Amino acid sequence: MTRDIGHFIGGKRVAGASGRFGDVFDPNTGEVQAKVALAAQDEVRAAVENAKAAQPAWAALNPQVRARVFFRFLDLVHQEKDALARLLSSEHGKTVPDSHGDIQRGVEVCEFACGAPHLLKGEFSDSAGPGIDMYSMRQPLGVVAGITPFNFPAMIPMWKFAPAIACGNAFILKPSERDPSVPMRLAELMIEAGLPEGILNVVNGDKEAVDAILTDPDIQAVGFVGSTAIAEYVYKTGTATGKRVQCFGGAKNHMIVMPDADMDQTVDALIGSGYGSAGERCMAISVAVPVGEQTADALMERLVPRVESLKIGPSTDESADYGPLVTEQALKRVRDYVDLGIEEGATLAVDGRDFTMQGYESGYFMGGCLFDHVGRDMRIYKEEIFGPVLSVVRAKTYDDALELPMSHEYGNGVAIFTRDGDAARDFAQRINIGMVGINVPIPVPLAYHTFGGWKRSAFGDLNQHGPDSIRFYTRTKTVTSRWPSGVKDGAEFVLPTMK
Ligand code: NAD
Repeated sequence: MTRDIGHFIGGKRVAGASGRFGDVFDPNTGEVQAKVALAAQDEVRAAVENAKAAQPAWAALNPQVRARVFFRFLDLVHQEKDALARLLSSEHGKTVPDSHGDIQRGVEVCEFACGAPHLLKGEFSDSAGPGIDMYSMRQPLGVVAGITPFNFPAMIPMWKFAPAIACGNAFILKPSERDPSVPMRLAELMIEAGLPEGILNVVNGDKEAVDAILTDPDIQAVGFVGSTAIAEYVYKTGTATGKRVQCFGGAKNHMIVMPDADMDQTVDALIGSGYGSAGERCMAISVAVPVGEQTADALMERLVPRVESLKIGPSTDESADYGPLVTEQALKRVRDYVDLGIEEGATLAVDGRDFTMQGYESGYFMGGCLFDHVGRDMRIYKEEIFGPVLSVVRAKTYDDALELPMSHEYGNGVAIFTRDGDAARDFAQRINIGMVGINVPIPVPLAYHTFGGWKRSAFGDLNQHGPDSIRFYTRTKTVTSRWPSGVKDGAEFVLPTMK
Protein backbone atom coordinates (compact mmCIF):
# COMPACT_ATOMS: atom_id res chain seq x y z
CA MET A 1 0.00 0.00 0.00
CA THR A 2 1.55 3.28 -1.05
CA ARG A 3 0.86 6.49 0.85
CA ASP A 4 -0.36 9.65 -0.84
CA ILE A 5 1.55 12.82 0.03
CA GLY A 6 -0.34 16.02 -0.77
CA HIS A 7 0.55 19.59 0.19
CA PHE A 8 0.55 21.60 3.41
CA ILE A 9 -1.50 24.74 2.90
CA GLY A 10 -3.15 27.04 5.43
CA GLY A 11 -1.88 25.02 8.39
CA LYS A 12 -3.07 21.59 7.29
CA ARG A 13 -2.38 18.74 4.91
CA VAL A 14 -4.47 18.90 1.75
CA ALA A 15 -4.73 16.38 -1.06
CA GLY A 16 -3.27 17.22 -4.46
CA ALA A 17 -5.83 18.31 -7.02
CA SER A 18 -3.81 18.33 -10.25
CA GLY A 19 -4.18 14.59 -10.90
CA ARG A 20 -0.40 14.38 -11.41
CA PHE A 21 1.81 12.39 -9.03
CA GLY A 22 5.46 11.46 -8.69
CA ASP A 23 6.89 8.24 -7.27
CA VAL A 24 8.75 8.33 -3.96
CA PHE A 25 11.02 5.29 -3.81
CA ASP A 26 12.61 3.34 -1.01
CA PRO A 27 16.19 3.43 -2.36
CA ASN A 28 17.06 0.34 -0.32
CA THR A 29 14.58 -1.86 -2.15
CA GLY A 30 13.67 0.06 -5.29
CA GLU A 31 10.00 -0.12 -4.33
CA VAL A 32 7.60 2.80 -4.68
CA GLN A 33 6.63 3.67 -1.09
CA ALA A 34 4.52 6.78 -1.71
CA LYS A 35 2.96 8.94 -4.39
CA VAL A 36 3.60 12.64 -4.07
CA ALA A 37 1.19 15.15 -5.58
CA LEU A 38 2.68 17.45 -8.20
CA ALA A 39 1.03 20.84 -7.81
CA ALA A 40 -0.56 22.80 -10.61
CA GLN A 41 -0.41 26.58 -10.78
CA ASP A 42 -3.74 27.10 -8.99
CA GLU A 43 -2.53 25.04 -6.01
CA VAL A 44 0.57 27.21 -5.72
CA ARG A 45 -1.73 30.21 -5.96
CA ALA A 46 -3.89 28.87 -3.11
CA ALA A 47 -0.79 28.60 -0.92
CA VAL A 48 0.24 32.15 -1.83
CA GLU A 49 -3.24 33.50 -1.02
CA ASN A 50 -3.06 31.85 2.43
CA ALA A 51 0.42 33.20 3.01
CA LYS A 52 -0.53 36.69 1.88
CA ALA A 53 -3.53 36.83 4.20
CA ALA A 54 -1.57 35.63 7.24
CA GLN A 55 1.66 37.62 6.78
CA PRO A 56 0.79 41.16 7.99
CA ALA A 57 -0.32 40.00 11.45
CA TRP A 58 2.78 37.80 11.77
CA ALA A 59 5.06 40.66 10.75
CA ALA A 60 3.37 42.94 13.27
CA LEU A 61 4.34 40.69 16.20
CA ASN A 62 7.27 41.53 18.40
CA PRO A 63 10.23 39.57 16.93
CA GLN A 64 10.91 37.93 20.29
CA VAL A 65 7.39 36.52 20.25
CA ARG A 66 8.07 35.17 16.74
CA ALA A 67 11.34 33.65 17.97
CA ARG A 68 9.48 31.77 20.72
CA VAL A 69 7.76 29.68 18.06
CA PHE A 70 11.21 28.50 16.99
CA PHE A 71 12.19 27.68 20.58
CA ARG A 72 9.13 25.43 20.83
CA PHE A 73 9.75 24.00 17.35
CA LEU A 74 13.31 23.09 18.36
CA ASP A 75 11.95 21.19 21.36
CA LEU A 76 9.50 19.29 19.17
CA VAL A 77 12.17 18.41 16.60
CA HIS A 78 14.42 17.24 19.42
CA GLN A 79 11.69 14.97 20.82
CA GLU A 80 11.01 13.52 17.38
CA LYS A 81 14.52 13.44 15.96
CA ASP A 82 14.89 9.65 15.80
CA ALA A 83 11.65 9.19 13.88
CA LEU A 84 12.50 12.12 11.60
CA ALA A 85 15.95 10.67 10.88
CA ARG A 86 14.48 7.27 10.01
CA LEU A 87 11.85 8.86 7.78
CA LEU A 88 14.53 10.91 6.03
CA SER A 89 16.75 7.88 5.47
CA SER A 90 13.85 5.82 4.13
CA GLU A 91 13.33 8.24 1.22
CA HIS A 92 16.86 9.57 0.66
CA GLY A 93 18.96 6.46 1.35
CA LYS A 94 21.57 8.12 3.57
CA THR A 95 22.33 6.28 6.81
CA VAL A 96 20.30 7.15 9.90
CA PRO A 97 23.31 8.71 11.73
CA ASP A 98 23.93 10.85 8.61
CA SER A 99 20.25 11.89 8.62
CA HIS A 100 20.72 13.05 12.21
CA GLY A 101 23.46 15.34 10.88
CA ASP A 102 21.12 16.61 8.15
CA ILE A 103 18.50 17.49 10.77
CA GLN A 104 21.03 18.96 13.21
CA ARG A 105 22.55 21.34 10.64
CA GLY A 106 19.03 22.66 9.96
CA VAL A 107 18.29 22.92 13.68
CA GLU A 108 21.39 25.10 14.09
CA VAL A 109 20.00 27.61 11.60
CA CYS A 110 16.69 27.64 13.50
CA GLU A 111 18.73 28.39 16.64
CA PHE A 112 20.41 31.23 14.76
CA ALA A 113 16.99 32.50 13.65
CA CYS A 114 15.96 32.73 17.33
CA GLY A 115 18.35 35.70 17.43
CA ALA A 116 16.07 37.64 15.05
CA PRO A 117 15.21 40.30 17.66
CA HIS A 118 18.88 41.20 17.81
CA LEU A 119 19.61 40.63 14.11
CA LEU A 120 16.72 42.84 13.01
CA LYS A 121 17.79 45.80 15.09
CA GLY A 122 18.32 48.75 12.81
CA GLU A 123 20.75 51.65 12.88
CA PHE A 124 20.26 55.04 14.46
CA SER A 125 22.09 58.34 14.10
CA ASP A 126 21.01 61.13 16.35
CA SER A 127 21.57 64.78 15.47
CA ALA A 128 22.01 64.20 11.75
CA GLY A 129 20.97 67.87 11.52
CA PRO A 130 19.35 70.38 13.83
CA GLY A 131 16.64 68.37 15.57
CA ILE A 132 17.05 65.68 12.92
CA ASP A 133 17.54 61.97 13.65
CA MET A 134 18.00 59.28 11.07
CA TYR A 135 17.25 55.59 11.52
CA SER A 136 16.99 52.53 9.38
CA MET A 137 14.95 49.41 9.97
CA ARG A 138 14.77 45.99 8.38
CA GLN A 139 11.29 45.03 7.25
CA PRO A 140 10.12 41.67 5.89
CA LEU A 141 9.47 41.32 2.17
CA GLY A 142 6.02 39.71 2.46
CA VAL A 143 5.55 36.30 0.84
CA VAL A 144 8.79 34.54 -0.08
CA ALA A 145 9.62 31.06 -1.38
CA GLY A 146 12.27 28.35 -1.20
CA ILE A 147 12.93 25.58 -3.73
CA THR A 148 15.13 22.83 -2.34
CA PRO A 149 17.08 19.74 -3.53
CA PHE A 150 16.78 16.07 -2.60
CA ASN A 151 20.11 15.70 -0.88
CA PHE A 152 19.36 17.58 2.38
CA PRO A 153 15.58 17.30 2.83
CA ALA A 154 15.68 18.56 6.44
CA MET A 155 18.63 20.95 6.52
CA ILE A 156 18.04 23.05 3.43
CA PRO A 157 14.29 23.61 3.96
CA MET A 158 15.16 24.84 7.49
CA TRP A 159 18.00 27.02 6.11
CA LYS A 160 15.38 28.68 3.94
CA PHE A 161 12.26 28.98 6.06
CA ALA A 162 13.78 29.68 9.49
CA PRO A 163 15.40 33.07 8.78
CA ALA A 164 12.58 34.10 6.43
CA ILE A 165 9.82 33.38 8.95
CA ALA A 166 11.75 34.76 11.92
CA CYS A 167 12.07 38.04 9.97
CA GLY A 168 8.27 38.25 9.61
CA ASN A 169 7.73 36.80 6.14
CA ALA A 170 5.29 34.08 5.11
CA PHE A 171 6.91 31.17 3.28
CA ILE A 172 6.14 28.81 0.40
CA LEU A 173 8.42 25.77 0.40
CA LYS A 174 8.74 23.61 -2.71
CA PRO A 175 10.87 20.67 -1.55
CA SER A 176 12.33 17.97 -3.75
CA GLU A 177 9.72 15.55 -5.06
CA ARG A 178 12.17 12.68 -4.31
CA ASP A 179 11.94 12.95 -0.50
CA PRO A 180 9.05 15.23 0.54
CA SER A 181 7.97 13.59 3.83
CA VAL A 182 10.37 15.30 6.22
CA PRO A 183 9.66 18.83 4.92
CA MET A 184 5.92 18.10 5.30
CA ARG A 185 6.43 16.95 8.89
CA LEU A 186 8.59 19.97 9.72
CA ALA A 187 5.78 22.26 8.57
CA GLU A 188 3.33 20.38 10.77
CA LEU A 189 5.68 20.74 13.76
CA MET A 190 5.95 24.48 13.15
CA ILE A 191 2.16 24.73 13.46
CA GLU A 192 2.24 22.58 16.62
CA ALA A 193 4.86 25.01 17.95
CA GLY A 194 2.41 27.89 17.55
CA LEU A 195 3.08 29.25 14.06
CA PRO A 196 -0.10 30.84 12.69
CA GLU A 197 -1.70 28.97 9.80
CA GLY A 198 -0.59 30.17 6.39
CA ILE A 199 2.88 31.35 7.44
CA LEU A 200 4.59 28.14 6.29
CA ASN A 201 3.11 26.28 3.33
CA VAL A 202 4.58 23.30 1.53
CA VAL A 203 3.71 22.83 -2.10
CA ASN A 204 5.04 19.62 -3.59
CA GLY A 205 5.76 19.43 -7.26
CA ASP A 206 8.09 19.64 -10.21
CA LYS A 207 8.84 22.22 -12.92
CA GLU A 208 5.18 23.27 -13.10
CA ALA A 209 5.14 24.27 -9.41
CA VAL A 210 8.54 25.96 -9.75
CA ASP A 211 7.36 27.99 -12.74
CA ALA A 212 4.20 28.97 -10.85
CA ILE A 213 6.38 30.28 -8.01
CA LEU A 214 8.69 32.14 -10.38
CA THR A 215 5.84 33.95 -12.09
CA ASP A 216 3.56 34.56 -9.12
CA PRO A 217 3.12 38.33 -8.70
CA ASP A 218 2.84 38.13 -4.90
CA ILE A 219 6.07 36.23 -4.25
CA GLN A 220 8.80 38.76 -3.53
CA ALA A 221 11.88 36.57 -3.20
CA VAL A 222 13.00 33.05 -4.08
CA GLY A 223 15.85 31.05 -2.56
CA PHE A 224 16.87 28.01 -4.60
CA VAL A 225 19.31 25.14 -4.07
CA GLY A 226 19.93 22.43 -6.67
CA SER A 227 21.91 21.69 -9.81
CA THR A 228 23.57 24.52 -11.72
CA ALA A 229 21.45 24.23 -14.87
CA ILE A 230 18.22 24.67 -12.88
CA ALA A 231 19.81 27.28 -10.57
CA GLU A 232 20.64 29.43 -13.58
CA TYR A 233 17.15 28.96 -15.02
CA VAL A 234 15.49 29.89 -11.72
CA TYR A 235 17.77 32.92 -11.33
CA LYS A 236 17.09 34.24 -14.84
CA THR A 237 13.35 33.56 -14.75
CA GLY A 238 12.82 34.88 -11.23
CA THR A 239 14.83 38.07 -11.69
CA ALA A 240 13.09 38.70 -15.03
CA THR A 241 9.80 38.89 -13.11
CA GLY A 242 11.34 41.37 -10.67
CA LYS A 243 11.98 39.07 -7.73
CA ARG A 244 14.96 38.98 -5.42
CA VAL A 245 16.58 35.61 -6.18
CA GLN A 246 19.50 33.65 -4.76
CA CYS A 247 20.41 30.29 -6.30
CA PHE A 248 23.00 27.79 -5.16
CA GLY A 249 24.13 25.22 -7.69
CA GLY A 250 26.46 22.31 -8.30
CA ALA A 251 30.06 21.76 -7.32
CA LYS A 252 33.36 20.05 -8.00
CA ASN A 253 35.31 20.38 -4.80
CA HIS A 254 39.08 19.84 -4.88
CA MET A 255 41.37 18.85 -2.05
CA ILE A 256 45.02 19.83 -2.58
CA VAL A 257 47.37 17.43 -0.82
CA MET A 258 50.78 18.97 -0.19
CA PRO A 259 53.89 16.77 0.20
CA ASP A 260 54.10 17.67 3.90
CA ALA A 261 50.46 16.76 4.67
CA ASP A 262 49.75 14.28 7.45
CA MET A 263 48.89 11.34 5.19
CA ASP A 264 46.72 9.45 7.72
CA GLN A 265 44.65 12.54 8.40
CA THR A 266 44.41 13.26 4.66
CA VAL A 267 43.21 9.77 3.74
CA ASP A 268 40.61 9.74 6.54
CA ALA A 269 39.39 13.14 5.34
CA LEU A 270 39.17 12.02 1.72
CA ILE A 271 37.31 8.82 2.53
CA GLY A 272 34.71 10.58 4.68
CA SER A 273 34.20 13.60 2.45
CA GLY A 274 34.39 11.74 -0.86
CA TYR A 275 32.16 8.78 -0.06
CA GLY A 276 29.94 9.88 2.88
CA SER A 277 26.27 10.04 1.85
CA ALA A 278 27.34 8.15 -1.33
CA GLY A 279 28.97 11.38 -2.55
CA GLU A 280 25.56 13.07 -2.80
CA ARG A 281 26.67 16.28 -1.07
CA CYS A 282 27.38 19.63 -2.67
CA MET A 283 30.39 19.91 -0.35
CA ALA A 284 31.71 16.39 -1.08
CA ILE A 285 35.33 16.26 -2.16
CA SER A 286 35.29 14.76 -5.65
CA VAL A 287 38.84 15.64 -6.77
CA ALA A 288 42.06 14.99 -4.87
CA VAL A 289 45.13 16.83 -6.14
CA PRO A 290 48.36 15.42 -4.72
CA VAL A 291 51.39 17.62 -5.36
CA GLY A 292 54.36 15.68 -6.73
CA GLU A 293 54.56 12.07 -7.92
CA GLN A 294 55.78 10.81 -4.55
CA THR A 295 52.80 12.32 -2.74
CA ALA A 296 50.46 10.90 -5.40
CA ASP A 297 51.92 7.39 -5.11
CA ALA A 298 51.80 7.47 -1.30
CA LEU A 299 48.20 8.71 -1.41
CA MET A 300 47.05 6.06 -3.89
CA GLU A 301 48.77 3.32 -1.93
CA ARG A 302 46.70 4.20 1.13
CA LEU A 303 43.50 5.16 -0.63
CA VAL A 304 42.98 1.99 -2.68
CA PRO A 305 42.52 -0.42 0.25
CA ARG A 306 40.34 2.10 2.08
CA VAL A 307 38.01 2.52 -0.90
CA GLU A 308 37.92 -1.24 -1.45
CA SER A 309 36.89 -1.81 2.15
CA LEU A 310 34.14 0.82 2.37
CA LYS A 311 31.13 -0.61 4.16
CA ILE A 312 28.01 -0.10 2.12
CA GLY A 313 24.67 -1.00 3.64
CA PRO A 314 20.98 -0.21 3.75
CA SER A 315 20.15 3.16 5.25
CA THR A 316 18.95 1.40 8.40
CA ASP A 317 22.40 -0.10 9.05
CA GLU A 318 23.94 2.35 11.50
CA SER A 319 27.40 0.87 11.00
CA ALA A 320 27.42 1.40 7.21
CA ASP A 321 29.68 4.10 5.73
CA TYR A 322 27.00 4.98 3.24
CA GLY A 323 23.72 3.72 1.80
CA PRO A 324 22.11 3.55 -1.63
CA LEU A 325 21.85 6.40 -4.13
CA VAL A 326 18.54 8.21 -4.24
CA THR A 327 17.03 6.79 -7.42
CA GLU A 328 17.72 4.29 -10.17
CA GLN A 329 18.23 7.22 -12.51
CA ALA A 330 20.94 8.64 -10.21
CA LEU A 331 22.62 5.21 -10.03
CA LYS A 332 22.65 4.88 -13.81
CA ARG A 333 24.01 8.39 -14.22
CA VAL A 334 26.93 7.73 -11.86
CA ARG A 335 27.72 4.35 -13.44
CA ASP A 336 27.66 5.98 -16.89
CA TYR A 337 30.21 8.55 -15.68
CA VAL A 338 32.51 5.75 -14.54
CA ASP A 339 32.21 4.08 -17.98
CA LEU A 340 32.97 7.44 -19.54
CA GLY A 341 36.08 7.94 -17.38
CA ILE A 342 37.49 4.64 -18.65
CA GLU A 343 36.76 5.67 -22.25
CA GLU A 344 38.42 9.01 -21.62
CA GLY A 345 41.63 7.25 -20.53
CA ALA A 346 41.62 7.65 -16.73
CA THR A 347 42.83 4.69 -14.68
CA LEU A 348 40.03 3.08 -12.67
CA ALA A 349 41.95 1.95 -9.58
CA VAL A 350 38.84 0.75 -7.71
CA ASP A 351 35.71 -0.32 -9.56
CA GLY A 352 32.48 -0.35 -7.53
CA ARG A 353 30.07 -0.41 -10.46
CA ASP A 354 28.90 -3.98 -10.04
CA PHE A 355 28.40 -3.94 -6.31
CA THR A 356 25.14 -5.55 -5.20
CA MET A 357 23.80 -5.55 -1.68
CA GLN A 358 22.83 -8.99 -0.50
CA GLY A 359 19.16 -9.07 0.43
CA TYR A 360 18.62 -5.72 -1.33
CA GLU A 361 19.37 -6.69 -4.93
CA SER A 362 16.92 -4.13 -6.36
CA GLY A 363 18.25 -1.24 -4.26
CA TYR A 364 20.30 1.58 -5.76
CA PHE A 365 23.64 0.59 -4.25
CA MET A 366 27.02 1.28 -5.73
CA GLY A 367 30.52 0.51 -4.53
CA GLY A 368 33.18 3.19 -4.15
CA CYS A 369 35.09 4.05 -7.33
CA LEU A 370 38.53 5.64 -7.49
CA PHE A 371 40.12 7.11 -10.60
CA ASP A 372 43.82 7.92 -10.93
CA HIS A 373 45.52 9.95 -13.70
CA VAL A 374 42.41 12.00 -14.40
CA GLY A 375 43.07 14.75 -16.96
CA ARG A 376 41.72 18.27 -16.72
CA ASP A 377 40.05 18.01 -20.14
CA MET A 378 38.04 14.91 -19.24
CA ARG A 379 34.32 15.25 -18.65
CA ILE A 380 34.62 13.22 -15.43
CA TYR A 381 36.80 16.08 -14.15
CA LYS A 382 34.76 18.96 -15.52
CA GLU A 383 31.27 17.76 -14.60
CA GLU A 384 29.61 17.05 -11.26
CA ILE A 385 29.12 13.27 -10.86
CA PHE A 386 27.30 13.34 -7.48
CA GLY A 387 28.11 9.77 -6.50
CA PRO A 388 30.74 7.69 -4.68
CA VAL A 389 33.50 8.45 -7.20
CA LEU A 390 36.77 10.21 -6.36
CA SER A 391 39.13 11.44 -9.08
CA VAL A 392 42.84 11.92 -8.49
CA VAL A 393 44.44 14.60 -10.65
CA ARG A 394 48.22 14.63 -10.24
CA ALA A 395 49.92 18.06 -10.10
CA LYS A 396 53.65 18.75 -10.42
CA THR A 397 53.84 21.82 -8.18
CA TYR A 398 51.74 23.81 -5.73
CA ASP A 399 51.06 26.42 -8.43
CA ASP A 400 49.85 23.73 -10.87
CA ALA A 401 47.59 22.37 -8.12
CA LEU A 402 46.22 25.81 -7.27
CA GLU A 403 45.46 26.47 -10.92
CA LEU A 404 43.03 23.52 -11.13
CA PRO A 405 40.27 24.74 -8.77
CA MET A 406 41.04 28.34 -9.82
CA SER A 407 40.13 27.62 -13.44
CA HIS A 408 37.26 25.20 -12.75
CA GLU A 409 33.78 26.54 -13.55
CA TYR A 410 32.47 25.59 -10.09
CA GLY A 411 33.53 27.36 -6.91
CA ASN A 412 31.61 25.91 -3.99
CA GLY A 413 34.19 24.42 -1.63
CA VAL A 414 37.90 23.59 -1.65
CA ALA A 415 40.47 22.30 0.84
CA ILE A 416 44.21 22.15 1.31
CA PHE A 417 45.96 19.62 3.51
CA THR A 418 49.40 20.78 4.63
CA ARG A 419 51.55 21.47 7.68
CA ASP A 420 52.97 24.60 6.06
CA GLY A 421 51.24 27.75 7.37
CA ASP A 422 52.67 29.90 4.57
CA ALA A 423 51.15 27.64 1.91
CA ALA A 424 47.84 27.46 3.76
CA ARG A 425 47.58 31.23 4.09
CA ASP A 426 48.59 31.87 0.50
CA PHE A 427 45.97 29.34 -0.62
CA ALA A 428 43.16 30.89 1.44
CA GLN A 429 44.04 34.36 0.15
CA ARG A 430 44.33 33.53 -3.57
CA ILE A 431 41.71 30.88 -4.22
CA ASN A 432 38.55 32.06 -6.03
CA ILE A 433 36.15 29.74 -4.20
CA GLY A 434 33.51 30.56 -1.59
CA MET A 435 34.27 28.09 1.21
CA VAL A 436 37.84 27.07 2.04
CA GLY A 437 39.09 24.34 4.36
CA ILE A 438 42.59 24.19 5.80
CA ASN A 439 43.07 20.61 6.96
CA VAL A 440 39.25 20.49 7.01
CA PRO A 441 37.70 18.55 4.12
CA ILE A 442 34.09 19.79 4.19
CA PRO A 443 34.34 23.42 5.25
CA VAL A 444 30.63 24.04 5.79
CA PRO A 445 30.39 27.31 7.75
CA LEU A 446 28.37 27.24 10.96
CA ALA A 447 24.91 28.77 11.14
CA TYR A 448 26.11 32.21 12.25
CA HIS A 449 28.48 32.55 9.28
CA THR A 450 27.19 32.42 5.74
CA PHE A 451 27.22 29.55 3.26
CA GLY A 452 27.70 30.09 -0.46
CA GLY A 453 29.91 29.29 -3.40
CA TRP A 454 31.44 31.44 -6.12
CA LYS A 455 31.50 31.22 -9.92
CA ARG A 456 28.84 28.88 -11.38
CA SER A 457 28.06 27.39 -7.96
CA ALA A 458 25.90 30.39 -7.05
CA PHE A 459 23.80 33.06 -8.74
CA GLY A 460 22.79 36.21 -6.86
CA ASP A 461 24.82 38.06 -4.31
CA LEU A 462 23.76 37.10 -0.80
CA ASN A 463 24.56 33.80 0.88
CA GLN A 464 22.50 31.32 2.88
CA HIS A 465 22.14 31.50 6.67
CA GLY A 466 24.18 33.78 8.91
CA PRO A 467 23.77 37.55 8.60
CA ASP A 468 23.25 37.36 4.82
CA SER A 469 20.02 35.40 5.29
CA ILE A 470 18.59 38.26 7.34
CA ARG A 471 19.61 40.71 4.60
CA PHE A 472 18.10 38.49 1.91
CA TYR A 473 14.70 38.17 3.57
CA THR A 474 14.34 41.83 4.58
CA ARG A 475 14.61 45.25 2.99
CA THR A 476 15.94 48.36 4.58
CA LYS A 477 13.88 51.46 5.13
CA THR A 478 15.62 54.63 6.27
CA VAL A 479 13.67 57.34 8.06
CA THR A 480 14.80 60.94 8.50
CA SER A 481 12.77 62.72 11.19
CA ARG A 482 12.83 66.23 12.56
CA TRP A 483 11.57 67.17 16.00
CA PRO A 484 10.52 69.56 17.33
CA SER A 485 8.05 70.31 14.62
CA GLY A 486 7.20 73.84 13.77
CA VAL A 487 10.73 74.91 12.81
CA LYS A 488 10.41 77.39 9.94
CA ASP A 489 13.48 77.78 7.77
CA GLY A 490 11.89 78.48 4.42
CA ALA A 491 11.83 76.54 1.21
CA GLU A 492 15.18 75.08 0.11
CA PHE A 493 15.84 74.68 -3.59
CA VAL A 494 19.41 73.49 -3.35
CA LEU A 495 20.02 69.82 -2.57
CA PRO A 496 20.52 69.61 1.22
CA THR A 497 24.07 68.61 2.17
CA MET A 498 26.17 68.51 5.33
CA LYS A 499 27.45 72.02 5.71
P1 NAD B 1 17.74 19.54 -9.06
O1 NAD B 1 18.31 20.76 -9.72
O2 NAD B 1 17.36 18.38 -9.91
O3 NAD B 1 16.42 19.93 -8.23
C1 NAD B 1 16.41 21.01 -7.33
C2 NAD B 1 14.99 21.57 -7.26
O4 NAD B 1 14.62 22.06 -8.56
C3 NAD B 1 13.95 20.53 -6.87
O5 NAD B 1 13.02 21.11 -5.99
C4 NAD B 1 13.30 20.15 -8.20
O6 NAD B 1 11.96 19.79 -8.08
C5 NAD B 1 13.43 21.44 -9.00
N1 NAD B 1 13.57 21.17 -10.45
C6 NAD B 1 14.12 20.07 -11.03
N2 NAD B 1 14.07 20.19 -12.37
C7 NAD B 1 13.50 21.38 -12.64
C8 NAD B 1 13.18 22.07 -13.86
N3 NAD B 1 13.46 21.55 -15.05
N4 NAD B 1 12.61 23.29 -13.76
C9 NAD B 1 12.34 23.84 -12.56
N5 NAD B 1 12.62 23.21 -11.38
C10 NAD B 1 13.19 22.01 -11.42
O7 NAD B 1 18.81 19.11 -7.93
P2 NAD B 1 18.80 17.80 -7.04
O8 NAD B 1 19.18 16.64 -7.88
O9 NAD B 1 17.56 17.72 -6.24
O10 NAD B 1 19.99 18.15 -6.02
C11 NAD B 1 21.34 17.90 -6.29
C12 NAD B 1 22.04 19.13 -6.79
O11 NAD B 1 21.92 20.19 -5.83
C13 NAD B 1 23.53 18.93 -6.99
O12 NAD B 1 23.92 19.58 -8.17
C14 NAD B 1 24.15 19.59 -5.77
O13 NAD B 1 25.49 20.03 -5.95
C15 NAD B 1 23.22 20.75 -5.58
N6 NAD B 1 23.29 21.28 -4.23
C16 NAD B 1 23.89 22.49 -4.05
C17 NAD B 1 24.01 23.02 -2.78
C18 NAD B 1 24.65 24.37 -2.58
O14 NAD B 1 24.46 24.96 -1.51
N7 NAD B 1 25.40 24.87 -3.54
C19 NAD B 1 23.50 22.31 -1.68
C20 NAD B 1 22.89 21.07 -1.91
C21 NAD B 1 22.78 20.56 -3.19
